[in-house]
Formats: sequence, structure tokens, C-alpha cells
Amino acid sequence: SSGQIQVIFGPMFSGKTTELMRRLKRYQLAKYDCLIIKYSNDTRYDQNGIATHDRHVLPALGTTELNSTLDKAMIHDVIGVDEGQFGFAEILNLVPLAESVVKLTAVCMQCYGEASFTKRKGTETALEVIGGAEKYMAVCRACYQEPGQVS
Ligand code: ADP
Ligand code: MG
Ligand code: ZN
Repeated sequence: SSGQIQVIFGPMFSGKTTELMRRLKRYQLAKYDCLIIKYSNDTRYDQNGIATHDRHVLPALGTTELNSTLDKAMIHDVIGVDEGQFGFAEILNLVPLAESVVKLTAVCMQCYGEASFTKRKGTETALEVIGGAEKYMAVCRACYQEPGQVS
């Protein structure tokens, strides 16, 4: 069939990987042939799987060449991609092409409100900085705009 695209956005800690796992487990229950692909430079918690911040893990195929891996993966019914922003040129281009787009929120790590943004704690400026709570925090708009940072 022609298939469909579902996109999950949200700041760090908003539960994107948790939601990806929930959907994939559901498709597995429904007997779909599923594959999870992950960006393999992202080994924060697990080498051979995708992992949530609270340490739930599912096996996954690691790649740094998402496009060619996706081509080969098309034999599967369902393909889950974690951290897709590292592999796709511009993830926002998927929005008009997708059947479903959601943006999740985390708990703001400064004021405990609804966090829609990720703030870098350090001074690194590279586009791609792999890290967890030691490098990033989820924040609301007001806390994002606040100068300086609390850790
Ligand atoms: P993401 O993939 O969006 O970074 P995960 O699915 O890996 O998120 O992790 C979500 C989990 O992170 C939550 O279920 C919770 O246990 C934990 N967590 C830690 N800090 C926060 C926070 N500030 N807001 C929400 N969840 C948090
Ligand atoms: Mg994640
Ligand atoms: Zn806040």
C-alpha cells in the first residue's frame, strides 16, 4: 500500500522515544513486521537499542546513513526512527507530507510548567551535541528567555 507518515516532535524529556515505543509495540501486537532505526552516534544510554530517559530500551538498528538504511528497510511494514532530525536534511519538510504530527511537552526544569523547548546548558555551539540532562534542559518559553541558567 502507499503507507503513511507519523511525526512526533517535542523538547528533550517530552516522551518522544516513549511514544515511539508505545506505537511500535502496538503495531507489533497487531502482527506488523516492525523495525526501529536509530541514529547510531546517539549511544547515550544504549548501544544496540533506543532508550528513554527513564531507561526503557527496545532493540534497534543503528545507522548514520538514514536515507540508505530507510531504502533497505522498506521491506518492513512499519519503520520507527528515533532522533530523526539527525538523519533527515530538514525534518520540518515532513510536516505537510505526514498523516499525523504531534508536539509533546516536558516538565519545565526551572519552574515545573509545561516545557515546549530544549535549552543547552553549556556553551557548545555545534549543531549536533549528543547528551542528556547534563547538557540539556527542558524549559517553558519564559525560562528559555531568562538569561543565565540554573542546573
Ligand atoms: P524524549 O525522547 O522526548 O527525550 P523520553 O521518552 O526518552 O523523552 O523520556 C521521557 C521520560 O523522561 C519521562 O517518562 C520521565 O520519566 C523522564 N523525565 C525526566 N525529566 C523529565 C522532565 N523534565 N519532563 C518530563 N519527563 C522527564
Ligand atoms: Mg528520545
Ligand atoms: Zn519554566
